[in-house]
Amino acid sequence: MNRAHNLFRLQQIDLEIDKNKARLSEITKILGDDAELNRAVDAREKAETKLADTRASLQSAEGSVSTQRFKIEQTEKTLYSGTVQNPRELQDLQMESESLNRYLATLEDRLLDAMVAHEDAESEFNSALSQLELIQVRREHEHEDLDKEQSHILNDQLRLGTDREAALTIIPADDLSLYDRLRKKQSGLAIALLEGSNCSLCGLATGSSIQQTIRSATDLVQCKQCNRILYAG
Ligand SMILES: [Zn+2]
Repeated sequence: MNRAHNLFRLQQIDLEIDKNKARLSEITKILGDDAELNRAVDAREKAETKLADTRASLQSAEGSVSTQRFKIEQTEKTLYSGTVQNPRELQDLQMESESLNRYLATLEDRLLDAMVAHEDAESEFNSALSQLELIQVRREHEHEDLDKEQSHILNDQLRLGTDREAALTIIPADDLSLYDRLRKKQSGLAIALLEGSNCSLCGLATGSSIQQTIRSATDLVQCKQCNRILYAG
């Protein structure tokens, strides 16, 4: 019975299980991460509020201009209707008309500013909206892929669990407890391959009689430097 080989096979299974577990927790993290989406939703809401505000300002500016135009129209109608004959009153009306027209120019400037602000807010809103839609579509695809990957890995874990059970049946309890101890201490790698005469993981060279023992594989031999079980492959 090749004890090192059986442990090496177990280690291959365990490394695959570890890799799958790490990927599964990564996937869970990605699936639960809504930060980008939430930012885009916030941006759209802000842009929507701003758009509504600028629309209200625009409507109010339009209202002011049309009220002012109506006042001017009324004043000029009185002025040119011939009903007012008194030169003093006519002069007053003339001055009032001029003053109303001056203020109309100010109101029209304000209207122009309000139109520009509204257009800007509109294009900001459209870009926030398309950004959000882009993120939503991308996430949908991403999540679909991740869901598939997740269920594929979960199936793989079931298969590996069965393989592990089978591998364990031919490993003596002492070998298994040494393996478990080493895996914990040596960041998951309890077994090292022998490459030529060296430990593949720490590089220490072994003598030829030890190499012989490793190759015969009836006893477990540990590397004198990193303590890992050496396997001839
Ligand atoms: Zn070593």
